[in-house]
Amino acid sequence: MANKKFPFTGTGSVVLHSAGHHNAEHAHLTPIFATSTFTFDTAQQGMERFAGEDKSRLYGRWGNPTFTAAEQTIEALEAFGLMDENGEPLQLKALLHSSGQAAMTTLFMSNLKAGDAVLSHYSLYGHTYELLLKVLAESGIQTIIADLRDLNVVEETIKKNPAIKMVHIETPANPTMQCVDIAAVTTIAKQHGLVVSADNTFATPYLQQPFKYGVDFVVHSTTKFLNGHGTSIGGVLVGKDIEKMKNHIWKWHILLGNNNNPFDAFLLINGMKTLEIRMERHCSNAIAVADYLDKHTAIEKVNFVGLDSHPDHAIALKQMKQPGALLSFEVKGGIDAGKQFIDRLQMCVRAVSLGTVDTLISHPASMSHRGMSKEDREKNGITDGLIRLSVGIENVADILTDLEQALA
Ligand SMILES: *Cc1c(COP(=O)(O)O)cnc(C)c1O
Repeated sequence: MANKKFPFTGTGSVVLHSAGHHNAEHAHLTPIFATSTFTFDTAQQGMERFAGEDKSRLYGRWGNPTFTAAEQTIEALEAFGLMDENGEPLQLKALLHSSGQAAMTTLFMSNLKAGDAVLSHYSLYGHTYELLLKVLAESGIQTIIADLRDLNVVEETIKKNPAIKMVHIETPANPTMQCVDIAAVTTIAKQHGLVVSADNTFATPYLQQPFKYGVDFVVHSTTKFLNGHGTSIGGVLVGKDIEKMKNHIWKWHILLGNNNNPFDAFLLINGMKTLEIRMERHCSNAIAVADYLDKHTAIEKVNFVGLDSHPDHAIALKQMKQPGALLSFEVKGGIDAGKQFIDRLQMCVRAVSLGTVDTLISHPASMSHRGMSKEDREKNGITDGLIRLSVGIENVADILTDLEQALA
C-alpha cells in the first residue's frame, strides 16, 4: 500500500496502489486466500478474537484478506480527492458482497425496519425495484416511488410521509438514463434527517463520486464496470460512518451471509486495475455510437446523457466527468423491428449484463424489467421497443459497422 499521504493525481494510480499487501510471503499480487477459517495459537487468543479485542482474522464469512484488498481499493476510489467536515481526507469503509443485490439487501435491511419507508424514484434497476416492492414490502418496509428529478415533489413527499427514513438514488438509472441531482436531493433529505444512499454502478467512481454531495452510502454491482470483464458476480456497500460500518452494518452483512468469495474478489481486484483507461474508451465509444444512432433515419429516439436532447443532460454533466457508456434507443417499427435489429448483429453480443469490455445488447421489456407491470414500464419510459446498449471498448469503427449493417 502506498503511503496514505502520497499525492496521487488520478484514480489510474489510486486503483493500483491502495490495497495493502495482505500476505506474509510478500507476493506481488494479492493471493486468493481460499480458506474458510483462520487459526489461533491458544484458546486465549481465540477468545480475544471473538471478543473483538484482537482484530485478527477469525472466520471466512466475517472477512478474508482477498476481500480486504478489493475493499481498500474501492474505498480509495470513492474517496479520491474528497475531504470530510474537518478538512481531512475522507475515510470510507467498504464491505464486499456476493452480488449487487446482496449489497442492496444489507443496505436496506440494516437501515430500515418494519413501519419505515424508503423514498426512491422511477426507472430503477429492475431487481432493486422488485427487492423493494416485493421482498422488503413483505417485512413491512414500504417503498414510495416518486420522480426525484422534481425537487418540489421530493420535499412534499418527505413532508407528507413521516415514515420515510431513507432516500435511495440511482443515477444514471437503468435503462432510460434518467439522472437525479445527487447534491440537491441529498440537501433536502438531510434537512429532514434522512439516510441517503446512491447506486453508483452505471457511473463508477471514476465518473461520479456521490460522497462529494453528502450521501451516507454508495452501492455498486461490482459485476459491471468495476470488474469490467464479466468474470464474476459481486457487490459492494461503502459507508462514511466508519464505526457504523464496522459494527451495525457489518453485523447485518455477516448474519445475512452476504459475503463475497476469495476467487471472485481476486478477479475483481485484477479487473479494477484498468478502470480508468477502460472508462475513457467506453465513454468515447459511447459518444460516437450515440451520435451515430441519433442521426440515423431508422432510429426513433436515443436516451444518452451525453446528448443535449436528453432531459437530464445538464444534471449529468454537473455531477459526472463524462456521460458513461450506457444508452438505450428505439428502432422505428416498434418491437418487431427491434427484434430483427438485435438478431442481425454480427459482433455486438446479445446478453443482459453491462459494463463489460465488449459491447452488450439487451431488450429491457422482456429481460431486465420483466418483473415490472407493462403500465409501470411505460410510465417509466421503458417501451416494448426499447433496446439497451452497453458500449464496449472495441475499435469504435467496428461497433458502427455492426450497427450499420443491422439497421440496413
Ligand atoms: C446489475 C445491477 C444491480 C444488481 O447487481 P448484481 O451484481 O447483478 O446482483 C444493481 N443495480 C444496478 C444499477 C445494476 O446494474
